Order: sequence, then structure tokens, then C-alpha cells
Amino acid sequence: MLESLAIVIVLLIAGFVALIGWQLRKKSFTSMPSGKQIYGDLQSSGQILVSRRYGISGKPDAVVRKGNTVIPYEFKSSDNTSPREGHIMQMGAYFVILEEEFQGYRVPYGILKYRNETFRIDNTVELRTRIVYTVDKMRNDYGPPQRNHDNPRRCAACAFSTRCDQTLLNYERSQPQWMP
Ligand code: SF4
Repeated sequence: MLESLAIVIVLLIAGFVALIGWQLRKKSFTSMPSGKQIYGDLQSSGQILVSRRYGISGKPDAVVRKGNTVIPYEFKSSDNTSPREGHIMQMGAYFVILEEEFQGYRVPYGILKYRNETFRIDNTVELRTRIVYTVDKMRNDYGPPQRNHDNPRRCAACAFSTRCDQTLLNYERSQPQWMP
């Protein structure tokens, strides 16, 4: 009887510890800005967001709508005490993309979350200028991206297919379903 009781207590404690660990992980992953999440795994099924004007695309981990603003959120599974340059540029690209995808909404900043720290990245003229300069330079150096195959099956399996100008599939392009 005492042995059974001890086993039950041990199982309860183990379950409690596991629950706390799960809650902490969940908290670190979901510490997003307040507002309504309008893009992310569940809302958009991994669809790609695109800036046709600049020819760039991306998949932020989430986008939150708050009033007349939309705020991208990106989670990195590493520790950092300051935002890495590449991650700032990635956020800048999201700003350009979201301003085109969610016209009529402002994109004032984004949230960059590392495991140990969270940073607010402001959407500044300086960052935007760097993004546009980098995209233009890549265009000039390498030219616009071209499809390198004639296989519709590859397009059918491609996450970009509904947004790609060169897809071999015959889509009626419609507004993405997560658009506000
Ligand atoms: S839809 Fe087709 S052409 Fe466009 S990126 Fe995907 S595979 Fe390439």
C-alpha cells in the first residue's frame, strides 16, 4: 500500500515538473506582442509573404495586428545579448514585405526573440534604405531570379507556388485567406 502511494506521489511530482517545463518553453516561444495573430503556422499554413515590388519573400514566425498596425515576430532558438546583423536585415525585409502585403496598415517595429533576450527592431528609414540597396545590388549583380526547370510537379510541391510569377501551375491568384 505504502509502495503504491509512493509511486503515485513520484508520478504526480514528475508530471508537475514536466508541466512547469512545458509552460516555460511555451512562454519563451509565445511571448508575442499583444493583439490578434493574423499570420503564423495555424493561420496561414506556412504560406509565403511576398513583396512583388522588390522581388523578395519571407515567412515570419508570426504577424500580429494591433489597431492599424501589423507587427512581425521572429523566434531564434539561440542565445544572443544583442540582435545579430543578419537577423536585423531579415526583420527589415519583413517590414518591406508586410507594408506591401497589408496595405493600409503601418509596420512600426518587429519583435526579435532569442531564447534569452527579446529585442524590438524599429522600422527606420535607415534600415529600409539598407534593405532596398541590398536588393538592388543583388538584382544588378545577379539579375532577376529565373525558373531553372520545366517540371510542373516541382511547382506543385513548392511553397511559393501560389505567389510565384513563374509557376507552371495555372492559378487564379486571389487574396491570401489570412489577409485582414
Ligand atoms: S512555383 Fe515553380 S518556378 Fe516558382 S519558385 Fe516554386 S518551383 Fe520555382
